[in-house]
Amino acid sequence: MNKEVSLSIKPEFAQEYRDGYPLISQEAISDWTKVSDEGTIINLQDSKNKFIAKGYYGKQNKGFGWILSSKKDEKIDVDFFVSKIKSAIKYREDFYSNKSTTAFRVFNGEGDGVGGLTIDFYNGYYLFTWYSIGIYELKEDILEALKSSVEYKGIYQKKRFDAKGMYLGDSEDFLFGERAPEPLIVKENDVNFAIYLDDGAMVGVFLDQKDVRKTIRDKYAKGKTVLNTFSYTGAFSVFAACGNSKKTTSVDLAKRSLPKTKEQFEVNNIDADSQDIIVEDVFNYFKYAVRKKLLFDMVVLDPPSFARSKKHTFSASKDYVKLLKEAIQITNNGGVIVASTNSANFSMMTFRDFIKKAFKELKGKYKVEESFSLPKDFRVNPKFKEGDYLKVVFIRKLK
Ligand code: SAH
Repeated sequence: MNKEVSLSIKPEFAQEYRDGYPLISQEAISDWTKVSDEGTIINLQDSKNKFIAKGYYGKQNKGFGWILSSKKDEKIDVDFFVSKIKSAIKYREDFYSNKSTTAFRVFNGEGDGVGGLTIDFYNGYYLFTWYSIGIYELKEDILEALKSSVEYKGIYQKKRFDAKGMYLGDSEDFLFGERAPEPLIVKENDVNFAIYLDDGAMVGVFLDQKDVRKTIRDKYAKGKTVLNTFSYTGAFSVFAACGNSKKTTSVDLAKRSLPKTKEQFEVNNIDADSQDIIVEDVFNYFKYAVRKKLLFDMVVLDPPSFARSKKHTFSASKDYVKLLKEAIQITNNGGVIVASTNSANFSMMTFRDFIKKAFKELKGKYKVEESFSLPKDFRVNPKFKEGDYLKVVFIRKLK
């Protein structure tokens, strides 16, 4: 049985939780000393000791835990998680039956009713990501719930416990069933990806960009030269090449990005030697490109929210305008910049302002062609809009 305690919500926060806000914030509760162990079930009550909602205690960068239920008598047990997982699966029925895409998110934290936990599907294998010690304490019930709800080949996990969501590499990532082949080949809209479920924090592809990749392939890439910055394993480049781009250039600082990107081309029968894959600091590459007067028809910008390299520190909220200005200078007139960020620190409106500012400072003109937020499988809780962190804008540079 999980431990349970009752905690009082400060009056000014009570209504928010009655209305269904899912994140338990530190400020909302005064007597945190009453709870010590993460994973404890906490019953939130108002100043008259009237029940409001229950959740679990688990420290994350975002807060101190997540609401699980507004029903006083609800038991947080295997059955509870079965019902959450089953409804998450039902919501994604079309993904399960789609043969062209065999990798997608099955369970998206608070969007599916349990914050701090995601479950991804990779062609028969399930990957759990635990975002706090608290949710990890509930792990047995949750794993049991998945096992009784689906057929699976194998189950893996990633622990991302500390305040910054850092990966804990000390753990065993493989849990049950059979081990996945290395690489495990999955499909996304008929394109192959090589996935490694037990090779560090990341598995080789970020599933939240699927709609953007498809759009690049189907509507923009044909005949174009494409520069993919912060390219990681080159997923955008692979989709551009599959859309018959003239050539792709992938730039990433990490040495491993080179063989990884080659592999992603090769599993799609694209000759990697016909593409440029460059291991370099993007900011140096921009300087080089300007010096050499290189121009691209499409430039993809998908930086991490924060990054520190030898010479540069990049923060999306502070430096995106500068990044855009670099990109604008090496984009052909009539070309397209795909500006992407997964920073939850600013809104789409602010991101659009960054774009406006960058073009204004360079006295350039542009037109927004289309924009994207999270795809359907990355379900967002309507009471927690901050959960929709992804912002992608297709910007056409005009003369
Ligand atoms: N666009 C990628 C995901 C980017 S992940 C995709 O679609 O899959 C962020 C990547 O940025 C990492 O691979 C990291 O190595 C790289 N990176 C961080 N700082 C960088 C810099 N200054 N120059 C080049 N790459 C950088």
